[in-house]
This record gives sequence, structure tokens and C-alpha cells, in this order.
Amino acid sequence: MSAEVCEKSKELRELGRRVIRDRPDLAWIRESRVRIGYAMSSKDKTKDDRIIFAECYKVKPLWQAFIPYDFVIVFYEPNVMMMDDRQREILMYHELLHIGMEDNGYLKIRPHDIEDFKVILDEYGMDWNAVEVGDMRGS
Ligand SMILES: [Zn+2]
Repeated sequence: MSAEVCEKSKELRELGRRVIRDRPDLAWIRESRVRIGYAMSSKDKTKDDRIIFAECYKVKPLWQAFIPYDFVIVFYEPNVMMMDDRQREILMYHELLHIGMEDNGYLKIRPHDIEDFKVILDEYGMDWNAVEVGDMRGS
């Protein structure tokens, strides 16, 4: 196994900019001038036996002294190689959704709003646990 090589990616930057432009829910990223770096890694990353396709990192304050970005999005090339353009676009959207801002303006990583098993989502849909607040009182 060879060492990981990580490089800035012009293609991913263009994809990221296009996804931000096309998604109204991401418009604030551009309006707030959030700085995002895009990189491609040669690593076939896995975690707990799952394939990691991409990740979004917040650049820590110390590193911001050296790196002109607030966030870095990295795609793991061996893991996304077989993805088509649409899948890469959705993956980019996913990573961009991890970019968040607190009420006080501090940037942060947004965690996923859903965590579940695939079999549950396949069988019951992702809103299986939604409750209708209006019906809570009973009659
Ligand atoms: Zn994620």
C-alpha cells in the first residue's frame, strides 16, 4: 500500500460551486463568503468496515493561520471512482450540508440529522419515527 497523496482539485471546486449555485438552501454559504477548499485523496478510506466516500473538515483556528479556508472537502478517489456524475453531485451536496453556522456566526460542522439502518429506511422510509404533534392529547 502506498502513502496517501492529497491534492487540490479543480474539478471538485467546480462541482462544489455548481451545487452551491443550484441549491437555494446553500446560498448562505456564498453570501457569507465561507471559504471552502476542495481536495482529492488517493486513500481508499474505510471506518468500521464502511467505505468513506468523502469528508468535510472544519479548518481549526491554528491551521487557518496557514490555510486560507474555513472548510476542506475531500473526496477519496478509489472510493468514488465508480460513481457517475449524479452520484458525485449528491455526494458533494451531502458534504456541503455539513457546513453550518451557529446563531452567533461561528462556523461549525453540522452533524447528520438522520442516523439509521439501511434496512429500516428501505422498508419504512426516513420519516418512520415522525409523530403528529396535534394528536398527542388523545380524546
Ligand atoms: Zn456526512
